[in-house]
Amino acid sequence: MKKIQMVDLGSQYQKIKSEVNASINDVLESSAFINGPLVKEFQSNLEKYLGVKHVIPCANGTDALQIAMMGLGLKPGDEVITTDFTFASTVEVIALLGLTPVLVDVCPNLFTINVESVEKAITPKTKAIVPVHLFGHCANMEVIMDIATKHNLYVIEDCAQSMGADYIFSNGQSVKSGAIGHVSATSFFPSKNLGCYGDGGAIFTNDDDLAHIIRGIVNHGMYTRYHHDVVGVNSRLDSIQAAVLNAKLPHLDAYNKARQSAAKKYTEKLQGIEALVLPVVRCDQPNGAASCNCHVFHQYTIRLIHGDRDALVTHLNSKGIPCGVYYPIPLHRQKAYKSERYNEADFKVTNQLSNEVFSLPMHTELEDDQIDYIVNTIKEFLG
Ligand SMILES: *Cc1c(COP(=O)(O)O)cnc(C)c1O
Repeated sequence: MKKIQMVDLGSQYQKIKSEVNASINDVLESSAFINGPLVKEFQSNLEKYLGVKHVIPCANGTDALQIAMMGLGLKPGDEVITTDFTFASTVEVIALLGLTPVLVDVCPNLFTINVESVEKAITPKTKAIVPVHLFGHCANMEVIMDIATKHNLYVIEDCAQSMGADYIFSNGQSVKSGAIGHVSATSFFPSKNLGCYGDGGAIFTNDDDLAHIIRGIVNHGMYTRYHHDVVGVNSRLDSIQAAVLNAKLPHLDAYNKARQSAAKKYTEKLQGIEALVLPVVRCDQPNGAASCNCHVFHQYTIRLIHGDRDALVTHLNSKGIPCGVYYPIPLHRQKAYKSERYNEADFKVTNQLSNEVFSLPMHTELEDDQIDYIVNTIKEFLG
């Protein structure tokens, strides 16, 4: 059996080496390291793939979130509602911009923002909602868009973990994650579903005016060379990363299928163990979840509802199985983001999940014997 890794980028690279190397080589030969033709090409290929009017590449996913909020003109004191259970980027950029983060609880089985908690958190100062499509599954976008319309709020999708995922509206309409809200942010960090070989990110929107504003913000607030109309940042996707992404984008659907197939095997083999709650796919597609892309399994995250999660993780590690705890501390309990406005009783789910969740190795190169070994090791431990 091959050594088990949380993410196996090496084996993936070996299979696409000639395409990636050729694409990188084009950049080397052209010396167009910044804003080269491959950046444009990737941008337009991704626009087509997502069915979104504008993709604006930038340096990383955290920047993408920050720039999206700057583009919307959010101002200090504005409240932005987001999930208590995610990577810190979201709350970090809200705070950095002097906006007020308002963290809310999540749904226990989907791990995404609880729409009832969102509605309860709205005040006259609320300006935006940031749903995070955590672990590869979209938040309840239909209800979130309805709430936003009703209260005149912006929706900023964080699709760093959901590239390629479909969201199905109740009328059957299928839209790619990132193409639903007013503006979206993603990351191309190497381990994401669409990852480059360094840092990268992008902002998506269907709004022409907003796209124009954002194109200036990523480039020092310049709309005409050396005329700085707004305060901007320097955030670029470099051409070598664009070359990698352009070579990998045509494989994204197959990569997501490989993740789904690994997830299906985990679920089939772990089904019926009472101590475990396995990942759920919510799909409103009339013909069922059989072959949908409603969950692209950035992570395969399980809840251990009876037993000692940390002991299980330690045991798996000792048997050569890396596994992750995403996330061990809810954001409202982090030193940097504590606030008197929070009440522990409002975070029942995130407080519980942070003690129960663990994520198994998940990537595009998992092999059956590895999955069997991982499942058997869990079963042995749980008796
Ligand atoms: C990875 C990630 C980010 C940040 O992306 P970087 O490119 O690392 O800055 C933001 N949000 C979520 C949910 C992520 O998983």
